[in-house]
Amino acid sequence: YPDTCRVPRVPRMLYPKAHVLQPTRVDVLLMTPWFAPIIWDGTYDSAILNAQFKNTTIGVVVFAIKKYVVFLKLFLETAEKYFMVGHRVIYYILTDRPADVPQIPLQEGRRVVILKVRNYTRWQDVVLHRMEMISNFSQQRFLHEVDYLVSADVDMKFSDHVGVEILSSLFGTLHPGFYASDRRRFTYERRPLSQAYIPEDEGDFYYAAALYGGSVAEVYRLATACHQATLIDKANGIEAVWHEESHLNKYLLYHKPTKVLSPEYVWDERMLRKPPYLRRLRYVAVPKNHAQIRSR
Ligand code: UDP
Ligand code: MN
Repeated sequence: YPDTCRVPRVPRMLYPKAHVLQPTRVDVLLMTPWFAPIIWDGTYDSAILNAQFKNTTIGVVVFAIKKYVVFLKLFLETAEKYFMVGHRVIYYILTDRPADVPQIPLQEGRRVVILKVRNYTRWQDVVLHRMEMISNFSQQRFLHEVDYLVSADVDMKFSDHVGVEILSSLFGTLHPGFYASDRRRFTYERRPLSQAYIPEDEGDFYYAAALYGGSVAEVYRLATACHQATLIDKANGIEAVWHEESHLNKYLLYHKPTKVLSPEYVWDERMLRKPPYLRRLRYVAVPKNHAQIRSR
């Protein structure tokens, strides 16, 4: 496995030093209680991070099953503008419609790999089986080809910088609808029969399934565990309330992420009003007609 824990050597660089008595942000939480940084604008220096992650290859796992292929063009075009600029990137496009994948001009060091996968009639099965497919392709390909994996929803666009500041062994993103909520309001799976069950008195955050990732080894473990959990649920005749997102939340409760992304990294301008402490919107939902896009 790639040695993502190794401390990299950086060259001589000139930058303003941090001030211990002048915190970069005082309006938001910058650290989880288990000392994982929460990534907000103004807290990091991209030049230092880019030097640290200089020889890193990032794999993007993006599903475009059935009608969702229509989102690929904007997703890829905006990713070329904002996502991991200057780094090696492989876009793994998992689709049942390879002929409908648009050809987008890519920057140097970046390429598209189309992986043909089966589809499912129910959209719930499409999203649940993302975990199985990530698990299988991790063993087959990802482990040998990239250092980090980023799983991203396709019905989104990048609208500002998303770079190596997000990379860590295991990272999740604060769901934009729940970052300020009490844990009892989180839409975790609440039925004890499900493997995704989380009791009312537990929970750190509600994480969004639209953007998470980590080292390939960690994402492989996560996806395999979530897939196993969905199989057990299926055998017990239950389906978690928010599908793979419910299982993701259960996994991240007991495998604490090593970085947490602020809602800058998953936002929905249609659903939410931007609060002042959200200085930048980096990855935002593209409006869609749920019934239309999810139908056959
Ligand atoms: N998806 C897909 N085809 C489908 C349903 C879902 O490719 O028919 C993939 C796609 O990548 C999508 C993700 O699964 O972004 C999650 O589904 P969706 O975005 O509809 O969920 P939401 O963000 O609305 O909760
Ligand atoms: Mn989505």
